[in-house]
Amino acid sequence: MTRFHWFAWVAALCAVGIAAACAVAEDARTWRAGVARAVITPDEPLWLAGYAARQRPAEGKLHDLWLKALALEAADGGRAVLVSGDILGFPRASAERICTALREKYGLTRDQIMLAASHTHSGPVLENALYDIYPLDEAQCEAIARYTRHLEAVAVETVGRALQSLTTAQLSDFEGSADFAVNRRNNREADVPSLRERGEPLPGPVNHRVPGMTIRDAAGKLMAVVFGYACHATVLDGYQWCGDYPGYAQLALESCQQGATALFFAGCGADQNPIPRRSVELCESYGLRLAEAVAKAAAEHGRPLEPTLKTSFATLELGFEPPDEERLRQMAEGSGYTAHWARRLLAERQAGVAWLRTYPYPVQVWRLGADQYWVALGGEAVVDYANRLEELVGPRVWVAAYANDVMAYIPSRRVWEEGGYESGAFSVYGLPAVRWQGDIEDRILAEVKRLVDSVR
Ligand SMILES: [Zn+2]
Repeated sequence: MTRFHWFAWVAALCAVGIAAACAVAEDARTWRAGVARAVITPDEPLWLAGYAARQRPAEGKLHDLWLKALALEAADGGRAVLVSGDILGFPRASAERICTALREKYGLTRDQIMLAASHTHSGPVLENALYDIYPLDEAQCEAIARYTRHLEAVAVETVGRALQSLTTAQLSDFEGSADFAVNRRNNREADVPSLRERGEPLPGPVNHRVPGMTIRDAAGKLMAVVFGYACHATVLDGYQWCGDYPGYAQLALESCQQGATALFFAGCGADQNPIPRRSVELCESYGLRLAEAVAKAAAEHGRPLEPTLKTSFATLELGFEPPDEERLRQMAEGSGYTAHWARRLLAERQAGVAWLRTYPYPVQVWRLGADQYWVALGGEAVVDYANRLEELVGPRVWVAAYANDVMAYIPSRRVWEEGGYESGAFSVYGLPAVRWQGDIEDRILAEVKRLVDSVR
């Protein structure tokens, strides 16, 4: 896509005009909202996160990476903060440090903080996240640790600015659709263009919803737009910092709506890829398609959300099956990240380090207004979770994945039984596991149900 085409597309998007709204009276029965953002593009040449095949650290940027915060306060006293970043995901230790600081500084409790990510594969590696898959030396590890501390401080400071800017606001939800996400377990990447050309349906479950909400000030001016999509941010695998397609979608929306901030949350897209991919032109075009879906839906289908807010959060101890030591010894003889993972685990065992047998998995549910439920799941949840939660919670539910911690793939029972990459891939994330226990889907859905009931 040439610069001219990008601007022509954005101009067409601007014509959709999501800013139209009526003024609202400033009384006690309104929302208050505040929004802030900060550039988080590393200024050191750090390693890029998400792919094991990269050979060297980042070299420049396609556009800046951002961290954004939206603070909400409802008329019933409910408070919440959404933090959204152009990163692979907040690791648990970072999430805990950020939440501790937000409690100490602003009195925010854990249930009131949602840490979302775009899961871009052109963002920075964070401390102790997927370390087995990158050839990191000591200097690179130190630089990553420095950057991680910086990112955490920026998150806390940005939330502080969002809270300081709280002002009377009106919230409306919307729902659009975009169809570039393809089930990567059921489709060979090379087959997709010809299947599409022939008009044949692509096999495998997907979820093409683009849910979200607009936040306008008392005069009706757009302050922020929040939106999600269930698809890996893996168009690009190069060496330049980039928010991938969600980054371009946010840029396009912000270009059209001067002064407004766009915040993205990745949905249950662990088994979904944007196909075809691997060019900046495709990345921009998917971003524009998503932005267009948001703009059209926000203009046509906005439904006002009453100023009530309830929040809940829990961690679930999910069990997994440990690896067999003999098998690890065979793997350790090989090469690549799987061998690295196996050698590290064997060394831990030899040093008497006890392997984890369970993991504290985060589940969060917010209710905005009478019946807008927002579920946030940790890890790389597959698309079945989005589809099952629509049945369980209701068709308008918003489901974020990669939220509050990203520790592993989270298979549904179907994917767990089928096997394959998304059923485990523990050597990528590093846990001493070969697979989760088979009741993983039942336990997560039961916990969501329990939290939905607690905020109903
Ligand atoms: Zn992923």
